[in-house]
Amino acid sequence: MKILRSKKSLKGFRSLVDPSKKVAFVPTMGYLHEGHLSLVRKAKRQSDLVIVSIFVNPLQFSPGEDLEKYPRDEKNDLKILSKLDVDAVFIPEQKEMYFEKSQIIVTHKTLSKKYCGASRPNFFDGILTVVLKLLHMVNPHAIYFGKKDYQQLFLIREMVRALDMEVAVHSAPTVRDKNGLALSSRNAYLSDREKEQAVFAYRQLAALALELKNLAKKNKEVGGSQLKSLLFKTQKKIDDYPHFRIDYLVCLDRKTLDDAKSFRSGKAVLLLAVYFSCEDKEKREVRLIDNIEI
Ligand code: AMP
Repeated sequence: MKILRSKKSLKGFRSLVDPSKKVAFVPTMGYLHEGHLSLVRKAKRQSDLVIVSIFVNPLQFSPGEDLEKYPRDEKNDLKILSKLDVDAVFIPEQKEMYFEKSQIIVTHKTLSKKYCGASRPNFFDGILTVVLKLLHMVNPHAIYFGKKDYQQLFLIREMVRALDMEVAVHSAPTVRDKNGLALSSRNAYLSDREKEQAVFAYRQLAALALELKNLAKKNKEVGGSQLKSLLFKTQKKIDDYPHFRIDYLVCLDRKTLDDAKSFRSGKAVLLLAVYFSCEDKEKREVRLIDNIEI
């Protein structure tokens, strides 16, 4: 497995790849878990050669977020990736990726500021910009993202479409722990007990998804006002539960990520973001996101 730390070495590696080979790319911020690995395995199955990147992208963090604290363990990540027989890992330094005072960013005029973008102002523009840059550098045939970050996946697809980029965007389902909590590098901020408590929000989301599906089975469609009141009921249940503060809970049209006016099975997605407050003295809050396609 090649470890590439500069754009130059990546370019050198890439230029030696036989042009008839299909190259797959899996971008990550490291501290790898089974969610990341599911993407790598899928990429391996569907291509001839897999490149993974590990880069904690400062551009997507806003002031006061956890850029410095973000969990990192390069040695372990490399061990895992080499066991999976990944061909190359690109681990650029910040100065390789950005020059000072660059004023260019990629944005989505509306969705960059909605849902997760409403409470994380730099998040999606930072992601779109770094993914565009990485795609130029790696030049893969296909790129892989998790459905865990649903809005991110949607925006990447939009960017690829809008900018006529010739790369296939593939996704893989959310990988969860045995209790149902979606795996995330940031789960490292939680103790085992806190992880057990944190799954409450997903359970409420799953219960809402089931209720909506059952209602739609009976009546074909759940009307707008009933949908609103079911969303409100679930939101309140989560908000009233100790440890949780809701950021948002929405039911969206999967094709546009606009609010669903009514609910029909197979066309919607529920997106949830919560703040979970830990039991330690500082009362740290960890932001968790999840979603269910229904
Ligand atoms: P990150 O390192 O958090 O930037 O994530 C890198 C990639 O892994 C993104 O495409 C994520 O959507 C994906 N990913 C993160 N967590 C999960 C999970 N639990 N299941 C599936 N994919 C995931």
